[in-house]
Amino acid sequence: MSGLLFIVAAPSGAGKTTLVRRLIAQTPNLVLSISCTTRPPRPGEVDGRDYQFMDAARFTALREAGDFLEWAKVHGNDYGTSRRWIAAERAAGHDVLLEIDWQGAAQVRNVFPDAIGIFILPPSMEVLTQRLRGRGTDDAEVIERRLLAAREEIRHVCDFGYVIMNADLDTACAQLASVIGAARLTFSCQRQRHPEYFERF
Ligand code: 5GP
Repeated sequence: MSGLLFIVAAPSGAGKTTLVRRLIAQTPNLVLSISCTTRPPRPGEVDGRDYQFMDAARFTALREAGDFLEWAKVHGNDYGTSRRWIAAERAAGHDVLLEIDWQGAAQVRNVFPDAIGIFILPPSMEVLTQRLRGRGTDDAEVIERRLLAAREEIRHVCDFGYVIMNADLDTACAQLASVIGAARLTFSCQRQRHPEYFERF
């Protein structure tokens, strides 16, 4: 039995983290991959819960050892997904959600073409700009860099099978849940998860 693999990408400021946290809290058997990063923790972030925070030397050692299913440089910091953790969770039958950028998504798709891609869009570029300014956790230069990166990220929306416009959190969360739910109802997934059921017919 192998769990499904979901990739959720979005430009910074689209509300992805809030949405994904809600989804994980309300969805049984769906686990979130905790990425490794060289970015320093923001206030309130907890090592092991939000990310596995590490220095560049440790990240490079893991990368060279082949520990990452994918990795990318985003906003000047390195981010990577643990290959072994994903494999173990999926082998245990858990569906896994990756919250990663478009570069990482492309690498994952090469390895797992069945991965289900979901892109979260903000309602408009104006709202995105306001959200990035209003967050207050980063300085102006970082925000400008993120705006440029947001445009770059959005250019890759066409590589994702599903698109959610996050104008209203409740609606977007329900839509995200419906994608997860639909993916679990495909024939191949149902057949694999309930073989005894199909054998009765
Ligand atoms: P933040 O530092 O704001 O939490 O995340 C910055 C960007 O890095 C986001 O677009 C996020 O999706 C992406 N990111 C987080 N973890 C990973 C990862 O493991 N791999 C890749 N490729 N991107 C990641």
